[in-house]
Amino acid sequence: MGRRRLLRAGLAVGAGAAITLAPTAFAAAAEGERTRVITGHLPTGAADFVHLPVEVPPGVREIAVSYGYDRPVVPPGTPGNSCDIGIFDERGTGLGGPGFRGWSGGFRTSFAISRGAATPGYLPGPVRPGTWHVVLGPYQVAPQGLDYRVEVTLRFGDPGPEFTPSYPPERARGRGRAWYRGDCHLHTVHSDGRRLLAEVAAGARAAGLDFIVSTDHNTPSSHGAWGPLAGPDLLVVTGEEVTTRNGHWLALGTGPGEWVDWRYRAREDAHPRFVRQVHRSGGLVVPAHPYCPYIACQWKFGYEGADAVEVWNGPWTYDDESAVDSWDSRLAEALRHGGRWLPAMGNSDAHSEPQVIGLPQNVVLAADLTRADVLDGLRAGRSWIAESSAVELDFTATGQGRRAGIGERLSVPADAPVDVRLAVVGVPGGTVRLLTDEGQLHQESLPASDRGTVVWRTTAALAAYVRAEVRHPRADGTPGQGNSMGPDLPWGPMAALTNPILLGVH
Ligand SMILES: [Zn+2]
Ligand SMILES: [Zn+2]
Repeated sequence: MGRRRLLRAGLAVGAGAAITLAPTAFAAAAEGERTRVITGHLPTGAADFVHLPVEVPPGVREIAVSYGYDRPVVPPGTPGNSCDIGIFDERGTGLGGPGFRGWSGGFRTSFAISRGAATPGYLPGPVRPGTWHVVLGPYQVAPQGLDYRVEVTLRFGDPGPEFTPSYPPERARGRGRAWYRGDCHLHTVHSDGRRLLAEVAAGARAAGLDFIVSTDHNTPSSHGAWGPLAGPDLLVVTGEEVTTRNGHWLALGTGPGEWVDWRYRAREDAHPRFVRQVHRSGGLVVPAHPYCPYIACQWKFGYEGADAVEVWNGPWTYDDESAVDSWDSRLAEALRHGGRWLPAMGNSDAHSEPQVIGLPQNVVLAADLTRADVLDGLRAGRSWIAESSAVELDFTATGQGRRAGIGERLSVPADAPVDVRLAVVGVPGGTVRLLTDEGQLHQESLPASDRGTVVWRTTAALAAYVRAEVRHPRADGTPGQGNSMGPDLPWGPMAALTNPILLGVH
C-alpha cells in the first residue's frame, strides 16, 4: 500500500460552466501503488463540472478512482445530491478535445483504466504522465450542499499489452431494398444500463430486429466491443446519447470509437459544432424524448441541424403525446417554406430489465441492410414506428395512376382525388387515425381480428400531407374520439405511427 494523505482541495480557478481545483500530486515509483484522497464541499449553484487535477508521474500501469458523496435528507420536491464522474487524460479537458477517457455518470462508484483494459464507460489505452483531471458533474445539489470524497490510486509497473478494439461491420445480410426494423436508442453497462452488450444483442434478436444503434450516454467505450456480437442477422451501428444539461440527443452512426462531447448548455454556442461533427461522420442528429420531465432532459436547442426527432420513447406516455403534437406542427411549417421536413423516430431507450428492447422500433425502407442505407432511410423519413415486430403496416396514397408511400410525395394536381389506404396487422380492436395539416380527418376502428384495412379519399388541396396513427383502446375499452375535448386523455396508447406522405406538386 502507498502512502495515504488527506487533501482538502482549495478553489483555484472559476470559469464558465467548470471550475478547476488545486492539483493532487503523486511521486513516481517503480512498483506498488499510491493513493491520494481528495475531499471537498460544493454549494448549491456549483459549476456543472468540477475539475480535480491529478499529476500522474511516469511508470503508471493503472489509474483507479473511487468516489462517494453525502446524501442529506431534503424536503419532498427538492432535489437531493447527485454527482456524476469521469476522467480526462494529460491531453486536457478542452471541449470536444482529445483528452476524454471515460464517463460513468452516476452509475458507478469506481473505475480503472490501463493500457489493455478499462471499466465499461472508460477507454483503455496508455496511462501517460502529465496532468489528468477527474471531473465531477454535480447535476443536483441539495440545499445543504454536497460533500464529496474522491480516492485516486496509481498502480506502477509494466503497462501490459494493448487493447485491440473489434468494431461491428457496417453491413449485415440484407434482403436488398426492403423494410428493416431497428431500435436506435439502447443503453448497456457502458453507461447506466444493467444489460451486458451480449444481452442487448440477444434481446434485439428476440424482438425480431434487423439492426440496433448502440447509444450509451456520453461515451463511445462500447464501440470496440460490439464486433463479436454483430452478425449477418444483426447490424450494429455505433452511436452515442449526448446528454447535455438542456436535453439529450442521439448521435446515430458516429465513427468507430468516435466521441461526441456533451458538456454544454443551450445558452452557449457549442451545439452546432457537435451537429457538424456528427454530420461529417455521416451520422444523424436526433433530439431524444424532448418533453421527458426528468431534470435536464427537456430539449432546449431547437431543431435546426436535426435529422429526425424521437417522438416516441419507450412505453407510450403523455410526454410522447406532446412530442408528436409539436412534431406535427413543424411538418406544416416546413412545407410552407418548401424546406426539409423533420422525420419522426421511435426507440425503446431500454436500459435494464424489464424495459423491452424494440418497444418501440423504427421500420425503415432501406436499399439494403447497411449502416449507410438504414441512416439514409431514417433521414428521408421513409419509416414508421411500431410498438413491436408483431405490428405490420402498409400505408400508401394513390392518384392519377401514381402511388406514394411513407416519406414520399404524391405529385398530383390540387383537385385530383387521392385514395389513402392503410392496412394494419397486429392491433386487434385498434383505432386508425388519419391526420393532415388540418388535424384528424378520419377515424375508424379496426376489427377484433388480427387485421384490417382503412380507405379514405382526399385531395392535395385539402391535405398538404397525410399521416396515420394506430391506437389501442383506452383503459375503459372505448376507442376515444379524436375531435373531442374533455377531462380524460382522448386516446389509448400508440401501437403504430407513420411519417407523412406528402401530397401535391412541390
Ligand atoms: Zn436520454
Ligand atoms: Zn437514453
